[in-house]
Amino acid sequence: MDYFRYVDNELWCEDVPVTKIAGDVGTPFYLYSCRTIERHFNVFDQAFADVPHMICFSSKSNSNIAILKVLIRQGGGVDIVSGGELYRALQAGVDPHKVVYSGVGKREDEIKFAIEKEILMFNVESSQEIEVINACAGQVGKKARIALRVNPDVDPMTHPHISTGLKENKFGIDINRSLDEYRRAQQLDNIDIIGVDCHIGSQITEISPFLDALDRLKKLIDLLREENINISYLDLGGGLGITYDEETPPHPTEYATALIKRAGNIDCTFILEPGRVIIGNAGILVSQVLYTKDSDGKNFIVVDAGMNDLIRPSLYESYHQVQPVIQNESPVITADVVGPICESGDFIAKKRSMPQLKRGDLLAVMSAGAYGFTMASNYNSRPRVAEVLIQDDRYYVIRKRETYEDIIRGEEIPEFLKEKE
Ligand SMILES: *Cc1c(COP(=O)(O)O)cnc(C)c1O
Repeated sequence: MDYFRYVDNELWCEDVPVTKIAGDVGTPFYLYSCRTIERHFNVFDQAFADVPHMICFSSKSNSNIAILKVLIRQGGGVDIVSGGELYRALQAGVDPHKVVYSGVGKREDEIKFAIEKEILMFNVESSQEIEVINACAGQVGKKARIALRVNPDVDPMTHPHISTGLKENKFGIDINRSLDEYRRAQQLDNIDIIGVDCHIGSQITEISPFLDALDRLKKLIDLLREENINISYLDLGGGLGITYDEETPPHPTEYATALIKRAGNIDCTFILEPGRVIIGNAGILVSQVLYTKDSDGKNFIVVDAGMNDLIRPSLYESYHQVQPVIQNESPVITADVVGPICESGDFIAKKRSMPQLKRGDLLAVMSAGAYGFTMASNYNSRPRVAEVLIQDDRYYVIRKRETYEDIIRGEEIPEFLKEKE
């Protein structure tokens, strides 16, 4: 349920017409609905109300500090995968005790930064990483709390590029080896074991893979407790899918109810790391038609947003609904919506039925709140677009559109290339 809707054939977000914002800030831009974000968070949070839990929003899905702040204000924590994301979360005012840190390639400087800030825990992804965290903690002079991210080897039945919990994926520690790794970690002076973690993939539209992973983690927790290894947190990661097209993912309540029931008397604080399900359908990308052309009966709509702004269609062949901001009665055609980037892989949508559009018309790329702006780049030296947040009848630019100066910031011409005076 979101707060994007048509009023008299014109797309509104909450109480503001999208056209009005486009007129003020120019195109393209990402547009987020605060009410939708809060609603999604609260539904998810409430779904776990019967058990001790912490909802750590996955900041890689959308890391704008204003968006993080919206969630932190609702009581959320943050799931990070880098020092940069920790910095953002702290800037947004997160309680460090609600931060969990995942990722296969944590650097020492990042680890020390997180230990100094006393985050809740590291989700450790390899046996070498445990040693490095232990050493870093020794240097910082504080203990590091950890969970092992185990790879439960379950098939999440999603796109192969966003599946993470299969043996062949690079993530986590093989569940069959994890007991030994826990035993080794237990011996280390600067490590406090506090939990078990897994994250099996993204855009998952069935409950069964989550339950399979939970079953395997439960068995592991039993074994660990037999050896007096303290497990008080059970982190089940993120991954719950959303509707982009015709997917029918479980409702968060259904998902939570099934997990809680299956967990039984687990006596752990649940940690969840949702990203997409909170922010995906709370954001859109608004773009403008630059040109329309047809070659040999094939129609192209060239828009001013490209794969550098939203890479999901190119990267994963993801589907995003594309809708005219102002609906019209013109004849329906089949068209490819493409960007201005010099790559054939630069498309937003292919073979879509949509009303004939003309130069200057606005298009809304729906469900673009997650893995949209965070994956944007400056490819083709395109300034990254503005981000706008709506709350009721007001809108706020939460990230300015980049300028040409921004895109060369930090670059320097070495002395030998400078003109001699
Ligand atoms: C990406 C990621 C998430 C969030 O996944 P969603 O599918 O957006 O919910 C959570 N945890 C970890 C470790 C991740 O890498």
